[in-house]
Amino acid sequence: MKTSHGRVRRAISAVATGRPVVVLDDVEAQGYVVFAADAATRELVTFTVRYTSGYVRVALPGSECERLNLPPVCHQDGEPFGTATHRVAVDFRETGTGISSIDRARTIAALAAPDATAADFRRPGHVVPVHAGRHGVLGTAPGAAEAAVDLARLGMRRPAGVLCELVSQRNPAAMADRDELAKFAERHRLPLVSIAEIAMYRRRTEPQAVRSAETTLPTVAGTFRVVGFRDTGTGCEHLAMIAGSADADAPMPLHVHIECLSGDVFGSLACRCGAELDSAVAAMRATGTGMIIYLRPSTPRACGLLTSTAAPDLLSETVAWILRDLGVYTVRLSDDAPELGLLMFGAIREHGLQVESAVSVWLATG
Ligand SMILES: [Zn+2]
Repeated sequence: MKTSHGRVRRAISAVATGRPVVVLDDVEAQGYVVFAADAATRELVTFTVRYTSGYVRVALPGSECERLNLPPVCHQDGEPFGTATHRVAVDFRETGTGISSIDRARTIAALAAPDATAADFRRPGHVVPVHAGRHGVLGTAPGAAEAAVDLARLGMRRPAGVLCELVSQRNPAAMADRDELAKFAERHRLPLVSIAEIAMYRRRTEPQAVRSAETTLPTVAGTFRVVGFRDTGTGCEHLAMIAGSADADAPMPLHVHIECLSGDVFGSLACRCGAELDSAVAAMRATGTGMIIYLRPSTPRACGLLTSTAAPDLLSETVAWILRDLGVYTVRLSDDAPELGLLMFGAIREHGLQVESAVSVWLATG
């Protein structure tokens, strides 16, 4: 994990200083030359065009697309403005034909310029702006456009990133595969980073859950402190139910529960969720200490009815951020450590928190 972190850091440093990087899209199994748009030079564009498809795109946030009047290439019925990805191609008004590396570098830099206006561009042109999703690589469909804008932002540059697909040198009719991408990056001394690695880096370094509410909740099992958290990626609300002092020196017994509508609310016997939640509450009542982190995935979960698609590694990052927010630095884990428990174990430790034994995680089997 540390190596992956280092790769992202090296990529950010390169983009910050105006150098290109290679971004691997794990889903498409395709690689891109990426650099900050405000660093565009004729040399950078020439280098890019030489090894790529030459279809040079500039990823921009939606607000910039609207500010510069960059409408979608085609409107689909029922699709609101702002969701289409490719925008009408442009040339900077002071360029010649617009296609040379000199011209394209000027257009790219102008697209990133804070003082550029819609009137600065001719349409259609030779540089294709694309709209990058609002949440970057942490959004629902992260691609190279989101990675390019994220790297530019993380490198403290204007939020605009150039991307262009690398072509195979062995077979110029095809795109470069993973092996060629690695060799290309090595030959040109460019950092190579995957979109998944950038996403993981952001989850580790940017809070994934922020405190939204806090109250004292009387229940049939006693009165507990309850803290609500909003998931910054999905907008979902999670809960932490706490007995005793969360920031005490003693290790806090931790129980993580993923919402199961049928088991938690209706007491379904088809899965163990309801019974396990009850026993966690009973344990807190009996000992007067402990914490239940109740996670609510972005897609509802009800064993036997609805299967959530929430990725366990994302949920474990959320748990780690909730623990950090609550000032819990040492958790006591039970001897029950199924699949999610192991991921959580790793995530908690990666955040510098202490784990005493195995985590108790209740996952439905039904
Ligand atoms: Zn269940």
